Amino acid sequence: MAVLRIGIRAWEAVLAHAARAAPEEACGVLAGRSRGEQREVVRAFPCRNAHKGDRRRHFLLDPQDQIEAQRQARAAGLEILGFYHSHHNGSAALSDEDLRQAHPRVSNLILAFRDGVFVEARSWVVDSQQRPSEEPVALGDVTPAGGTASATADDR
Ligand SMILES: [Zn+2]
Repeated sequence: MAVLRIGIRAWEAVLAHAARAAPEEACGVLAGRSRGEQREVVRAFPCRNAHKGDRRRHFLLDPQDQIEAQRQARAAGLEILGFYHSHHNGSAALSDEDLRQAHPRVSNLILAFRDGVFVEARSWVVDSQQRPSEEPVALGDVTPAGGTASATADDR
């Protein structure tokens, strides 16, 4: 089965963003490379949560931030592998809303926190009928983007 491998620097950027945004949900773009079934996340691009309602329970990637993330990923020679967001109810399961919003065939990484403490991360891929399946997550070394390894932590 396909594994979502997340580089340490990208992982640290996601975790820091989620902690900073708490108690609101954090969201962003995951970029990297795919090799056959394997996906390697090289960079994470934090985006603003532009949801108009309760951002502690909902998220919407800010469209401008998403476009900028896609532009930067392309410039670094990376492809968009998926998206991440955080939950503060202790569960990294897809909510019904997450499932409806999910783009098919990309990774949807969810980081779960409870009382401000990180609990777990799980990743989900939905098919063209919006049926979800879980994708194993592994942390580890990945080859950095060409010549821009020092620019991984996009601290906003
Ligand atoms: Zn969610």
